[in-house]
Amino acid sequence: MKGEIFEEVEKGYTPQEAVAEAFRCIKCQDAPCNKGCPAGIDVAKFIRQIAQKNFGGAIRVIREENILPGTCARICPQRELCEGQCSSTELAQAIRIGKLQRFVADYEREKGAKLLGKLEPRGLSVAVIGGGPAGLSAAATLVRLGYEVDLFDANPLPGGLLTYAIPPYRLPYEVIEDEIEYIRALGVNIHCQSPKKDIPTLMERYAAVFIGFGAGDPQRMAIEGENGEGIIQGLDLLREIKLGQIENRGIGFQMGRRVEVVGGGNAAVDAAVSARRLGAEVVTIRYRRTEKEMPAWRDEIEFAEKEGVRLEFLCAPKRFLGDHGRLKGIEYIRMKLGETDPSDRAQPMPIEGSEFIVEADTAIVAIGQKPSFEAIEGAGISPEGWVQVDEQTMATSIEGIYAGGDLVNGGDTAIRAVGDGKRAAFAIDEYIKAKHGQT
Ligand SMILES: Cc1cc2nc3c(=O)[nH]c(=O)nc-3n(C[C@H](O)[C@H](O)[C@H](O)COP(=O)(O)OP(=O)(O)OC[C@H]3O[C@@H](n4cnc5c(N)ncnc54)[C@H](O)[C@@H]3O)c2cc1C
Repeated sequence: MKGEIFEEVEKGYTPQEAVAEAFRCIKCQDAPCNKGCPAGIDVAKFIRQIAQKNFGGAIRVIREENILPGTCARICPQRELCEGQCSSTELAQAIRIGKLQRFVADYEREKGAKLLGKLEPRGLSVAVIGGGPAGLSAAATLVRLGYEVDLFDANPLPGGLLTYAIPPYRLPYEVIEDEIEYIRALGVNIHCQSPKKDIPTLMERYAAVFIGFGAGDPQRMAIEGENGEGIIQGLDLLREIKLGQIENRGIGFQMGRRVEVVGGGNAAVDAAVSARRLGAEVVTIRYRRTEKEMPAWRDEIEFAEKEGVRLEFLCAPKRFLGDHGRLKGIEYIRMKLGETDPSDRAQPMPIEGSEFIVEADTAIVAIGQKPSFEAIEGAGISPEGWVQVDEQTMATSIEGIYAGGDLVNGGDTAIRAVGDGKRAAFAIDEYIKAKHGQT
């Protein structure tokens, strides 16, 4: 692995910088920052503790609500969440809440983490399917509530997209690895390479089941030439890069000189930046709507532009052009925006006769993912194609089975998956207590 090209970009605070930043907080009464966190962290409290140099207290406050503090500090879109709500924006700029959280998480990693407390064992087991942020959060909460927890993941390593997709320059593997070790130390039994194919039958062995198996199946475009050499799925490229880091080996993929990236989400942007870092000279993201509708976050798009990635809007691929099965170019068609669709975004419509051809050595396809439902036959599915749950409890339509994360919300953030997993764990506790007559 060419280590340095994927080294973490953003640097952490020193203790002095962290305390100075925490001091900028104006301590507003209603603490709007707290409301901006989908995992319910008491942001105002931990900022106060950092200002008082109580770094150990600050990390405990965070970890009580979010079992992945160092990870989320690095990858949360804070500008759209806690920092977006910060009242200090009216005075100067928002408090750098993410960097403060990262500081105490890294400080604790260095000094040695203290385990959170647990309730007495209840003598009942719960199964968690999927070891991404949703499953890890549900499992950690349940084990702390006194349950025996078996977490099953299909992959060789837990962590879901954190381990296998988010590039090391934004989230080094060691950070998520340490946080998973912490969850193991709490007592969660993590079983890897254990895909579960018929989840409802697990209710025969477990008091309840939480499913957080994400949305890992790539959406296909179903256009001519899609399976040609030189065309890869964005998630496959990102997985290869992460594996390169984890296994300390090179990347088994040759990047071309001219790279076209199709899509507008985080996977498209991360794959485009990675392609540049792997040596591609011209990397262009083409998206069928406009920049306003891009699902990728503003900060990520700005970072990609700084890395030399070009963005082109209102065009969609019509077919991949090959020479003896090897990609040579892509035929695109221009689009215009029409009526608003169910996702509340303007529907892209092709403009007849506007086709154009672009030369390309590599095409990266990142047009979104969907869950695979085979394992949970019988669960209600929403009109948008995601598992339906009760919003308060995260209960599915199958008794005793709860769900959260991407397979419920269609793909959002790690912190939302963490919040879902935690909420489901408390509801599972209530369900089991009611069913088994415990208090
Ligand atoms: C490229 C990319 C970049 C992203 N960047 C960010 C970011 O910067 N910040 C952010 O907050 N979010 C980001 N996200 C989104 C975030 O990663 C997801 O919202 C989050 O990981 C969802 O968590 P999850 O637990 O629902 O699913 P996942 O993380 O997808 O985990 C699901 C797990 O379930 C396992 N599994 C699947 N089926 C089975 C089965 N049948 N049996 C057992 N195990 C199974 C899988 O192996 C996987 O480990 C990004 C996503 C992508 C694709």
